[in-house]
Amino acid sequence: MQRLIKTFLDLAEIDEVHPDEFKVLTYVEQRLKAAKVAYTRDKMGNIVARIKGSSPDVLGLCGHVDIAAPLLGRKVVVTDKEIQTDGVALLGGDDKTAVAALLELATELHERKVTPAKSLELIFTVGEEAGLLGAKSLDLTKAKAKRILVLDWFGPVNNIVSDSPAYFKVDVSYKGKDAHPALWQQGINAGAVLMKAASQLHQGDYAKDVIFNIGVVRIGHARNKVPGHASLQAELRSYNTAAVRKAAEAVGAHFRKAAKADGVKPLITIEENSGSYRINKAGSLYREVAEVLGSMDLESKLESTYGCFDGNIFATRGRDVINLGAAYYNPHSPDEKVNIAEFIQLYDFLRRITGSKPK
Ligand SMILES: [Zn+2]
Repeated sequence: MQRLIKTFLDLAEIDEVHPDEFKVLTYVEQRLKAAKVAYTRDKMGNIVARIKGSSPDVLGLCGHVDIAAPLLGRKVVVTDKEIQTDGVALLGGDDKTAVAALLELATELHERKVTPAKSLELIFTVGEEAGLLGAKSLDLTKAKAKRILVLDWFGPVNNIVSDSPAYFKVDVSYKGKDAHPALWQQGINAGAVLMKAASQLHQGDYAKDVIFNIGVVRIGHARNKVPGHASLQAELRSYNTAAVRKAAEAVGAHFRKAAKADGVKPLITIEENSGSYRINKAGSLYREVAEVLGSMDLESKLESTYGCFDGNIFATRGRDVINLGAAYYNPHSPDEKVNIAEFIQLYDFLRRITGSKPK
């Protein structure tokens, strides 16, 4: 288990944010090569590795190699119980605990010459934090697993996501006309139109079961200029895909109408980033996960979240997916930490569910 921690610490030193994932992917490749595991790497960077088991039944195991933000020179602090940072920036436990556990599993199987009961597909995605970009671009005809465990949620392995929302992006760009403030009558103030239109929408609870957020607003380039250009990036989430689609279209229509009324040119794009996810409790994967957790004296703890995962993409494409805790806490924050006992427990779970426990 020392080596599991060491692998994690190696990964945690790599300071890369999507689309810069060169070092972390090289590390994954080197470890897979050393463990004599065949893999493919696609144009985007996603790596799919295959380990043949004694049964043709293929189980997918997925973690993402990218982290949410730069590390800013932060130091990692390891105590008896936890791995954390000096508080300067995040740890990257999300989702490098998963990456470390999968690499460790491949290494152990090779070293101990163990053939797992199930055939395995280890799926390492890129760009998860940038909007599930790796999973979206992954050619699932190449990843054969019909059942995939995504290890990318906080807390112990028995923390399981029950529901995750559909996610829509709305981008609004307004084109007016720049002018000197003294000659403001000659300009068309795109910023003023955008602010007015945005202020008429209710952020937070936008409609029943739909949340709405405007995360980025950009207006103009200089203080002494009537801004001829303005844009914003917004998002909507809901467990109800139809409701969130309707709401996204209403938001788009609102900004289009406001532009028309005030004489600016709108460019509005609405994109469905991911569909909603609901755990399939009737499926064989859920049953097997529950059995393995039971064998470890753990009970499934189901929880809904407004976060989205690679699993949303896989589920939308017909895979049976379960999203499990990967032993990290407070992701995306300088307080992020990894619980060492739960990290080891995650690894134990992987050995059991794959049928890889050494005799
Ligand atoms: Zn994550």
